[in-house]
Amino acid sequence: MVHPGQTLVPGPDSGLWLLDAQAVDHATYKRFGHCLDTQERSRIATLTATRWIRGLVIARGFVRHVLGDLLDLAPDAVAITRTPCTHCGGPHGLAQAPGLHFSLSHGRDDQAQEMLLLAVGTQPVGADIAHPAAYAGDLAARLHPRDQAELATSPDRAEHLAALARARLGALGKARGTGLTCGPAPAYVGTSTVPARGHDGWVISDVEVPGRWCAAVARAVTS
Ligand SMILES: [Zn+2]
Repeated sequence: MVHPGQTLVPGPDSGLWLLDAQAVDHATYKRFGHCLDTQERSRIATLTATRWIRGLVIARGFVRHVLGDLLDLAPDAVAITRTPCTHCGGPHGLAQAPGLHFSLSHGRDDQAQEMLLLAVGTQPVGADIAHPAAYAGDLAARLHPRDQAELATSPDRAEHLAALARARLGALGKARGTGLTCGPAPAYVGTSTVPARGHDGWVISDVEVPGRWCAAVARAVTS
């Protein structure tokens, strides 16, 4: 099945896919909409804003098409489940399909441009994409104090570094099964060119994405 998305790294064990939501044409959008399950349709039916509906259809349809390709299944035949959050038990834990873990991040900039990053693995994985323009102000407050201190030393790059740290922290939280905003105090992820290490069995890697977007993926340490 062809869908408009950029494959950054192919394959079921370390796969990364990037999708510019603006590049989704009408025919693809319809195809995405047709493959959703009852639960996904019910959730979409609760939304009123057109852009939120479009965003959710694209996100869920994109996931189903990529997973369907990997599992050799039709997109609407992919059984998607989510484990309870490992911190609070809420419905934002690890996302799974049979034999695969995946993590989808849906980033927005200040012009309502949307970019999706999907990571797939045979072990738990977390992905996050963030745009500096979307995070002026409040984002830094959610970072580890050491990350905040690093931002303060580079005021001219603070927005970029905050988005970078947010992507790294988001990826780690999703891999750990707590999602973006749940869980214990935020980890120190670093704002230099290499993410900080020492995350208790998890390693964060930056992902190269176009423009000003910042993205990262977190996976279990394998060796
Ligand atoms: Zn939680």
